[in-house]
Parts: sequence; structure tokens; C-alpha cells
Amino acid sequence: MHWLDACLPLPQPNRIQHLVPAVDILFASSEAHPLVKTGGLADVSGSLPRAIKNAKQEIRLVLPAYRAAVASAGSLNKVTELDLPGTSAPVRILQGRLPHTRVRLYLVDAPEYFDRPGGPYSNPEGNDWPDNAARFALFGRSVCEIAMNRAGLDWKPELVHCNDWQTGLVPPLLSLESEPPASVFTIHNLAYQGLFGRAHFQALDLPPQWWSMNALEFHDQMSFIKGGLIFSDWITTVSPTYAREIQTAEFGCGLEGLLKQRSARLTGILNGVDYQVWNPGRDRLIPHAYTARTLRLKLENKTALQEAFGLPVKTDVPLFGHVGRLVEQKGLDLIMELIPELVQRRLQLVFLGTGQPQLEQALRQAHQRHPTKIGVRIAYDEQLAHLIEAGSDAFLMPSRFEPCGLNQLYSLRYGTPPIVRRTGGLADSVVDADGPSLYAHKATGFVFDNAEPAELLRAIDRALNLYAQQRVWKDLIETAMHEDFSWTRSANDYVELYQRVLEAHRKNRESVHQAPPQDISGVLI
Ligand code: ADP
Repeated sequence: MHWLDACLPLPQPNRIQHLVPAVDILFASSEAHPLVKTGGLADVSGSLPRAIKNAKQEIRLVLPAYRAAVASAGSLNKVTELDLPGTSAPVRILQGRLPHTRVRLYLVDAPEYFDRPGGPYSNPEGNDWPDNAARFALFGRSVCEIAMNRAGLDWKPELVHCNDWQTGLVPPLLSLESEPPASVFTIHNLAYQGLFGRAHFQALDLPPQWWSMNALEFHDQMSFIKGGLIFSDWITTVSPTYAREIQTAEFGCGLEGLLKQRSARLTGILNGVDYQVWNPGRDRLIPHAYTARTLRLKLENKTALQEAFGLPVKTDVPLFGHVGRLVEQKGLDLIMELIPELVQRRLQLVFLGTGQPQLEQALRQAHQRHPTKIGVRIAYDEQLAHLIEAGSDAFLMPSRFEPCGLNQLYSLRYGTPPIVRRTGGLADSVVDADGPSLYAHKATGFVFDNAEPAELLRAIDRALNLYAQQRVWKDLIETAMHEDFSWTRSANDYVELYQRVLEAHRKNRESVHQAPPQDISGVLI
């Protein structure tokens, strides 16, 4: 058995689990794999709580009871009912387990808001639900009731871990309480802020003083994310580089002043990978499981991938894959600009994604023009995503910004060197294949600096050059496959952080969410 296979499924011995006292944590998120997923947040919320539980902390997960989540959650029992503003019927709290884990799960069941077809944020046609402000305000209020032990669960967490704008009202709501738990707010993507007009703010019946630039108001709109950023005890984001980047005008989305002001309580912790789901040695979603020792089986997956996309089956033609939401962030436009150049080269490209209609259309056209070179699937397809990771020779991820990014981490484990822009979590996880790093057997992919098509093209050409040198390429693949981005390491970092946050929360009764919101006028642009 290869050592990768031997060590992956079981967590590494935890270096701190015996050193720190257990903390009771409520982890609030708007999506979690395998219950409901639109992107990386679901991967994190489905894996991190389990890793934290393995680190001997008491962590419970709370999510809205979307129709899809209830259908896939297994057995659930109703534990309690809450009367909350904003609903015509009592809100039920359903209890179960996050599938395949020991993590206790609470689902906030308000059928008028969550029992719907479509996604967690949008209807089946892809348009945002018009009542998203009310939906996630209700979710936030429910989380607050659970956190304050008013939900009949006989449990009061010491710390609430909130994630992204959908949970942004939780820290401000907790600030109204006399003995609130500590709060951590994690930014998974600052570009999504939960912005709504003033009428929504008024309809939610929130404290009127929160309509202020020192609280929720942001350029005459209500900003859910500002609630989390201002009122939480601590802010984290999903990579150290992104933590620095969001304090600059280029990446701060207008919130850089506020983030800079809170920088002493802003920490970047790189996401991990669930190697039970993303492990080429045990992956049941690909036709041929393989390890670094059986790379010839990777070629069989390449054949399957070429067949799946109707491309000529040629194992010696370099195949570049891309999976992701088709949005500007992911830099797909950079690839599209290069299509005329790329089709001149001996290579194939496959794309899987859904998103902005014009990008979907551009991809379909590229396939129609170059059907033997470019394969396109406009869909959300978990199995095909695994096959692309396994069957491609290299993975394209030229994001304009990337808080952490997961696909490049999966690519590394699947021996599919990622081609990435040096930003956010991409910069923190991929080692560029330049001369010294290759010589030292440390190179794992190809990194370029600026979001310019010419720079991406140079990185692709460097990859093509190395691909032609099969021994060097094999070395690159093996180094990538042996990298360890397991959740155990990140979970330990969170557990250590929770201790610091509790300490700060205890000592500092004037901490941000307990003091009246401080004056941040002048720091918001
Ligand atoms: P983001 O959270 O910005 O979407 P990440 O790289 O952090 O980007 O995570 C994206 C996750 O969503 C990965 O698990 C990826 O495989 C998955 N994903 C994105 N689009 C698709 C798709 N069309 N089909 C299957 N999986 C997808």
C-alpha cells in the first residue's frame, strides 16, 4: 500500500487536543456538503466541524432547513419551536447529524422561507430570492436564540462561529445580549456582502441606530457582512495572503479601511481538503483509482475524460481542465481571450461550470468552433468534477482574486499541476515550477503574477514545455501529490484561535461587540 493511502483517511495525531480545554462551539453556515452546496463554503462547513470535533471540541452545526437539505439529512427529529419576528408560524428546530460524522446538526425550519425548489440563495431560474434579507435575518435570529440557550436545547455555546454575510446579523444581535458567547466571523469571499436597500432594513425591525456607517449601513444600503466585521470578537479569512489583500483597495471591496482598523483581530487560516472525498487512491467517482505509484491509471482516467467530452482520445496530447463558477472572479475571460492562440497549440481543453450567461455562451461557441480541441459542459456535476481533476494533465485556475480556492488543492492531490495567479490562497498553496524549486523537488504548479492574458499564456507554455520532459513532469506530479493540506492542521489553528478569542472576550469587557459600535467614520471609503 502506498503511504498516501495508508495515512489519508485517519486524521494525524492531534498536536494540541490534549493541551487545550474543550470549547462548546456553534458553527453557523448557509450551506454544508453533502446537504446543500453552491461552492467552497459548503466544502468547508461540511469538513471543518468534523475536524474540530476530532480535535476534541464540542461543535454543533446550524443551517437553514432548505428542502434539499432536509431531503438529504437522514433522520431528523423536531426538538423545539421558537416564536420569532418575521414569520407567521413558529420556527421549528430540527435535530440530526451531519451525514457520515458525529457532528450534531440543527436545521432552522421555517417553511415559508426555506422549503422551496431551487438553490439556497436563488430560484430555479438562477435569480436571487427577493426575500433573502428576511430569510437570513430569520436565520440569524434563530442562531442567536440557540446561542443564548433560549431554543430549548439545554446547551449554551461559549463561542459562535459565523460564516459569510448570511450569518452577518448574528454578532450584532448577540451584542444586544447581556452575557453573550464570543463570536468569530469568517470571510469566505468578501465580494458577496449581502447588500439590501433601506426598505429591507426597516422591514426587518432592527435597532434604528444600526442604520449608521458605524454599524450596518454601507453607502446607503444595509450590509449584512458589516454586521459580522464590526460586531464579532474576531475576524478570520480563509488564507493568510487574502487576509493581507483585503486590507487594500484592490481587494477590499470598499471595506479595506474597516478591515485595516481591525487587523489586530484578523487572522488568515488556509482551508483544508477533505481527503476522504478528494483522494485519487479511493475515489469512487472516477473509473480508475490511482496513487503516485500507479500513475499509468491516471492516463486511463484521461481517456475516460476525453470520451466523456467527445474529444479525440490521444493520451499524449496535453489536456487542461477547468471547473468552477463561471464568474469574473475566476478569470475565465483571460482563458477565453487566449482561445485563438491556444487552439494553435497541440493541446485539449475541458470546461465544467455554470454561471454568467455570457460566459456560458462564450464557452459553447468556443466548443462549436473547435469541437476537437475544446470540450464544454454547462452543468453542476460533482462526478465530472472529480473526473476532470483525475483525467486532466494540468488545471487552469487564473482567478483575479481567490480567498482560498479548493480546486487547486484537489488538483495537487490528483497530480494535476495547477496553473494559477499569485493571489490569495492560490499564492499560499502552489509552488511555481521555476529552476530552483524544480531542482529542490519543491515545485507543484505554475504561478503568474498579473491578470493579463499574455502572462497566463506564458505560464501555459511553461507547462507545455515541462510536459514534454516526461521525467521532470513526473517529478512535479509526485511532489504535488505528496503535499498535505488536510483539515487536521487548519482545525488545530482554529482551535488555538478559539482559545485566544475566548481569552480576549473574557478579559476585555469593552471588546468591540459589547461596547457601543466604535466610530469608524473616515475609515470607510
Ligand atoms: P468558490 O467557493 O469560489 O466557488 P472554490 O474553489 O473554493 O471556489 O470551491 C468550489 C467548489 O465547488 C469545488 O468543490 C468545486 O469542485 C465545486 N464546483 C464548482 N463548480 C462546479 C460544477 N460546475 N460542478 C461540480 N462542482 C463544482
